[in-house]
Amino acid sequence: MDLAFSPEETAFRHEISAWIRDNLPAGWGTPEFKEPKTFEERLEFSRAWEKRLAEAGWAGISWPKDYGGRGTTLMDQIIFHEEMAAARAPQIFINFVGINLAGPTIMAHGSEQQKKRYLPKILDMSEVWCQGFSEPNAGSDLANVQTKAVLDGDNFIVNGQKIWTSFAHVADWCLLLCRTDSSVAKHKGLSYLLVDMHSAGIEPRPLKQITGEAEFDEVFFTDVRVPRAQLLGEMNMGWTYANTTLANERGPAFLAHQIRFRNSLNDLFDSAKRTMRDGVPVAEHPAFRDRLARAYAEVEIMRYIGYRLVTSILRNGRPGVEGSIAKLYWSEMVRRFQETSIAIAGLGGMLDDEDGFDGGKWNRGFSMSFAQTIAAGSSEIQKNIISERVLGMPRGEVWAPKPKEKV
Ligand SMILES: Cc1cc2nc3c(=O)[nH]c(=O)nc-3n(C[C@H](O)[C@H](O)[C@H](O)COP(=O)(O)OP(=O)(O)OC[C@H]3O[C@@H](n4cnc5c(N)ncnc54)[C@H](O)[C@@H]3O)c2cc1C
Repeated sequence: MDLAFSPEETAFRHEISAWIRDNLPAGWGTPEFKEPKTFEERLEFSRAWEKRLAEAGWAGISWPKDYGGRGTTLMDQIIFHEEMAAARAPQIFINFVGINLAGPTIMAHGSEQQKKRYLPKILDMSEVWCQGFSEPNAGSDLANVQTKAVLDGDNFIVNGQKIWTSFAHVADWCLLLCRTDSSVAKHKGLSYLLVDMHSAGIEPRPLKQITGEAEFDEVFFTDVRVPRAQLLGEMNMGWTYANTTLANERGPAFLAHQIRFRNSLNDLFDSAKRTMRDGVPVAEHPAFRDRLARAYAEVEIMRYIGYRLVTSILRNGRPGVEGSIAKLYWSEMVRRFQETSIAIAGLGGMLDDEDGFDGGKWNRGFSMSFAQTIAAGSSEIQKNIISERVLGMPRGEVWAPKPKEKV
């Protein structure tokens, strides 16, 4: 693999970094900048920032030109996300599902009419999307979806419940995976609807997370009428389309995570130099030095896992099992990293940074880290994939002692 960048790619890097420098919100990154705190504040902030990205044509950097995107190469997308990470620019938040999941799925399986209707409004940020896949009894076992859609003339009538639906209470549209045939094998009876979240009978109920905010919801559907024209692709082919959505969950932005983590690592080292424990800076304290060294080594490992993932995508057009290795390693590493940060912060880590304590800045990341090993496929599920596809272990067999023979 050649890791060097071509002159064109280097020029592209300069173009992006200049744009970011000129367009970051005023004062961003300085101590005076008042970062958004509540979900509502972050929502407002993200809408403005993501609109700015959209107007400059960066929102659709991974989208083909035919659909209004930039149609750039994977390397250029990586460069874009690397520069965003290096500048500590805000990450895509409110438009994540639209740009990364809804757009690519509609491009791959939608009718021409659907593409014309939905794609431009995703790209210009005028409509927000959510992903209605998980249910109380269908998370890891997604094919078990029970929300029912019954065809009645020109409409589907939808009844059921979704859960953990990020942004449902602010979304305009939903990617809804639902059951249209209960008489066949479970993954063969699913369909995929594009549902207007403002329809009568939809009730999102925000769920409070450990951070105290509610970014996701449980969503109840009661006799919701969805026009047949909003069926994606063919009836009962929803499982195939859902897999397209899931394959896009970890886009190229994920490849730049290690840069964001290197920034956090540098902040952690600064904090360790400033914070005193037992009369010495934490950075020199024997109880912390090994944890800091481990954090450093793990960010390095993540860099190489990232390169491996890029190689796999360049060779095969999509991530193979490397995607699961990266997700597992990254999310478990985040948990350990945030534990170290909170241990260094000591009691101050329990506070918010507005309380004026140095440690307060780590609080939110620590609380959020618990979600990382669950969202987008839990660690256990990633381990199953790795054990089956890399280690060749038998599928779905649960070890149990053999019953003793009767004598
Ligand atoms: C922050 C966040 C945002 C989310 N946003 C969305 C969203 O926008 N839309 C959406 O549809 N979903 C969303 N989810 C849901 C997410 O996809 C599910 O939580 C995830 O797939 C796990 O499903 P579950 O919660 O039902 O847990 P379960 O599948 O019930 O799993 C419970 C536990 O059992 C383990 N387990 C399950 N099956 C196996 C197995 N076969 N082998 C070994 N262990 C197993 C799991 O690892 C887990 O530890 C979000 C989740 C989080 C945390």
